[in-house]
Amino acid sequence: MASVRLMHIRDLIRLVGFMLVGLLFGTLIGQVAWGLFLSVLAHTIFLCCNLEALLRWVRARKEHEPPEYVGVFEDLVLEIDYLRDRHRKRKKKLASYIKQFQQATRALPDATVVLDNQDQVRWANGAAEKMLGVRWPEDVGQRVTNLIRDPKLRDFMAREDLDESISIEIDSPTLSGRHLNVLSAPYGDKQRLLVARDVTQLHRANQIRSDFVANVSHELRTPITVFRGYLETLTMKQTKVPAEWNNALEHMTAQAERMRILVEELLLLSSLESEDSVPHPITVDVAALITEIHARAREVSGEAEHLFSLEIDSDLYLKGSPEELFSALSNIVFNAIHYTQARGIVQIRWSRTDTGGAEFSVTDNGRGISTEHLPRLTERFYRVDHSRDRQSDNGGTGLGLAIVKHVLTRHDAELLIESTAGSGSCFTARFSPNAVAKPPLDRDTGVRDVG
Ligand code: ADP
Repeated sequence: MASVRLMHIRDLIRLVGFMLVGLLFGTLIGQVAWGLFLSVLAHTIFLCCNLEALLRWVRARKEHEPPEYVGVFEDLVLEIDYLRDRHRKRKKKLASYIKQFQQATRALPDATVVLDNQDQVRWANGAAEKMLGVRWPEDVGQRVTNLIRDPKLRDFMAREDLDESISIEIDSPTLSGRHLNVLSAPYGDKQRLLVARDVTQLHRANQIRSDFVANVSHELRTPITVFRGYLETLTMKQTKVPAEWNNALEHMTAQAERMRILVEELLLLSSLESEDSVPHPITVDVAALITEIHARAREVSGEAEHLFSLEIDSDLYLKGSPEELFSALSNIVFNAIHYTQARGIVQIRWSRTDTGGAEFSVTDNGRGISTEHLPRLTERFYRVDHSRDRQSDNGGTGLGLAIVKHVLTRHDAELLIESTAGSGSCFTARFSPNAVAKPPLDRDTGVRDVG
C-alpha cells in the first residue's frame, strides 16, 4: 500500500513539474495563463501517449516485456501482468485436466460421443470411432444421425422424452455382427452424451434362449396334436370306453388343451420377440375390435354373468397389427373376468389422452393384487397365488401379460397396472401419439372422417 501511495506522489510531482515549467514559460512570455494551459495540455498528451503504449502492450498476442512506467501506470502494468500470468497458469492447468479426462474417456470400452443441442458432434472417444465410426476431431460439427445412418437411431434421437433409462439396440455400423445398446444422457442446456455398449454376447445368449424355446415349442406341437387326436377319438360317443375311464379322459383332455395353449403362447412370444416393431402396420379399428372382444368376454363369463360397461371412442384408430392388438386387449379383459367373482363389474374404456395418445383401460372389482407382485406380473410364468389360480382352473399359463407387454412395446405403448388386494384392479394400455392412426377414408364419399 505504501509503495502505491509513493507512486501516486510521483504522479503528483510530475504534474507539478509540468506546471512549474508552464508557469516559468508563461512568466517569460508575459502570459502566465497560457503558460499554465500549455503545461496541462502537455501533461494530458503525455498521459494519452502512455495509455496508447499500454493498450498496445495489452493487445499484443505475443509476450512482450511490459513498458517501463512510473506512477499509476506502473501499478496498472504490474496488475495486468499479474492477472495475465494467473490466467495463463489457469489455462495450462485446465488444459492438463482436459487432456487427462480425454485420455481416461478414450480408454473407456464404451463408445462415448458428446453432442451439442443440435445433436452435432463435439467430442468422441476411441471406442466411438471403432464401434460407431464417429471420429474426433474430423467429425466435429457433423450431426450424429448423418454419420450413423440407422432409422432406429434417427427415431430414437428425435424422441423428446429421452433420459438414461431409455435405450435402443442397433447393429454396429463399423463392426459386422456386433450389437450395440445405445442410450442418451442429457446434460447442460439440451446437450447430450451418447453412450454405446457392445451387448453382442448378451444378445447371442438371448437369441440362443429364444431359439431353444421356439424349437422345443415347435417340436412339442406335433406330439400334442396326435395326443389330442386320440383323446378326441376316445371321448367320442361311438367309442366304447369303460365308464371308470371317463374322469381320467376328461382330465387328460383338459391338460392336453392346456399344453396346446402353452405351446401356442410360447411360439407367439418367440415370434413377438424376434422383432421390435410390427412389420406391416395397418390402420386398426379398435372400437370394432373391442366390440368383438366384448362378445367373446360374455361367452367366457358364461354363467358368472359379469356386468360389463363400455365407454368407447369409435373415431380413435391405431397403427399396428389387428391380430396382435386383439390378443393383447382380449387378454386384459379375459383376466378381469377370470380374477373377478361372479356378477362382478368389468369396465372397459377406450379414449384419447390429453397428450394426443390413446388409452385402453379395464377396471374390475375382483380379487386385486398385492403391491409386491405388481412389478413382476409381466414376467413369463409369473402367477400370483399359484395354488388358488390352479383351483380356479382358468387355464392360465402365466404367459398372458408377458404377451401383452411385448405386443404393447411393438405398438409404442406401455402397460400400467394399479391394483389393491381384495378390491380390484385397473390395467391400462397407454399408446403414444405416434401409435394413433388417422381415421380411414370414408368408403362412399372418399372423405376422411376426422370425427
Ligand atoms: P395367467 O395366465 O395366470 O392369467 P397372466 O400373465 O395373464 O397369466 O397374469 C399373471 C397373473 O396376474 C395372474 O396369474 C393373476 O394372478 C394376475 N392378474 C392378472 N390380471 C388380473 C386381474 N385383473 N385381477 C387380479 N389378478 C390379475
